[in-house]
Amino acid sequence: MVKRIKNLFECEECNLWYNDQKTAQKCEQWCKAHHSCNLEIIQLSV
Ligand SMILES: [Zn+2]
Repeated sequence: MVKRIKNLFECEECNLWYNDQKTAQKCEQWCKAHHSCNLEIIQLSV
């Protein structure tokens, strides 16, 4: 589950933080499915 702290959202699979929940959820879904990181997503992390 995506964790929220203030206005940051964490992908609990790879522990990267995002400015928006949508992207964090996308990252988490990708991480769970592929057990790797999607460069297009992680470049949006903060
Ligand atoms: Zn992730």
